[in-house]
Amino acid sequence: MTISSFHPPQRTLMGPGPSDVSPRVLEALARPTIGHLDPAFVGMMDEMKALLQYAFKTENALTLPVSAPGSAGMETCFVNLVEPGDTVIVCQNGVFGGRMKENVVRIGATPVMVEDDWGTVVDPDKLESALKANPDAKVVAFVHAETSTGAQSDAETLVKLAHDHDCLSVVDAVTSLGGSPLKVDEWGIDAIYSGTQKCLSAPPGLSPVSFSERAAEVIRTRKSPVQSWFLDLNLVMGYWGAGAKRAYHHTAPINNLYGLFESLVMLQEEGLENAWTRHELNHQALRAGLEAMGLSFVVKEGDRLPQLNAVRIPDGIDDATVRSRLLNEYQLEIGAGLGTLAGKVWRIGLMGYASSPRNVVYCLTALEAVLADMDAPVNKGVAVSAATQRLQKG
Ligand SMILES: *Cc1c(COP(=O)(O)O)cnc(C)c1O
Repeated sequence: MTISSFHPPQRTLMGPGPSDVSPRVLEALARPTIGHLDPAFVGMMDEMKALLQYAFKTENALTLPVSAPGSAGMETCFVNLVEPGDTVIVCQNGVFGGRMKENVVRIGATPVMVEDDWGTVVDPDKLESALKANPDAKVVAFVHAETSTGAQSDAETLVKLAHDHDCLSVVDAVTSLGGSPLKVDEWGIDAIYSGTQKCLSAPPGLSPVSFSERAAEVIRTRKSPVQSWFLDLNLVMGYWGAGAKRAYHHTAPINNLYGLFESLVMLQEEGLENAWTRHELNHQALRAGLEAMGLSFVVKEGDRLPQLNAVRIPDGIDDATVRSRLLNEYQLEIGAGLGTLAGKVWRIGLMGYASSPRNVVYCLTALEAVLADMDAPVNKGVAVSAATQRLQKG
């Protein structure tokens, strides 16, 4: 048997990530691989840091892309800041808070859970009660943009509460970075991690992280060594650190970094605030179309994440059939529900390069065609015009 080259189909990615990667980024990925200590590469690393600081709105010196996906960024924050025996307050309102808890437990620290229903935001009052009941807590961790449900929590308020009780804040911004307002320095976030394959629209495999000076000091003065050798920032800084000799730690994913670099250049060209506005407008247009069709959102208005739209599946309609028809007939990927929402919702992403009027119209057209063919109880012939009218209003 001769196995030949792999040529993936050309899809439109409107799920929870990865999102569509722009041709500019794909072209950057194919540039010549050079050494990870090559002076030309090292020059790019310094600019990369400045671009990440721009995207995070921070001047944190400890800002870099971890050489692994968003989950590794999460783990980087926990293993560096938390030591065995520490208490960590973890807010959970979806899938990813559960993973934070898992990180805390594996470190040998104690998680205190603040739980909210899936599809709702983290309740600041519940966090405040937990902080009062656990005066020894060291860290408060929460997910800014819960991709599993489409809810966006009030990061600024939650971080302020953490600080009022002398705790560090760890924020999951995997889906918010580049898509909705996020101000690391202004909000005083101590540790934050993101991913490349959501609103930055670069391929998966890297995780931008940033740590405040206060968090960096906690890492430098740990009592015990970081349990992960690979993610120990004290070692990683020998390669990525300001003024570092760029000593070998691991071989950086060179070409993937070219891709992230190009996507950050594109973000800078567009302007961060303009990117936030674009995500919001396309969300409003998709929403107008879906609601005209008769579909309803899971998350209440005001708490919704523009880049991830969770909508209820009409009664009697099989989730998997619709998604596989969209994929096979229209090359369109949308996401399934997770956990308590499995089988009940679809998650439609409008992330990064994929957040465009073209995709809004395409998704509404394809979804309506499939649902109409399955005799679903939806209004026909009105979704696209509702969306385009909303787009024209700006
Ligand atoms: C996607 C996602 C992650 C995990 O990122 P990976 O790159 O898949 O490891 C973590 N948190 C949130 C909120 C996400 O959406």
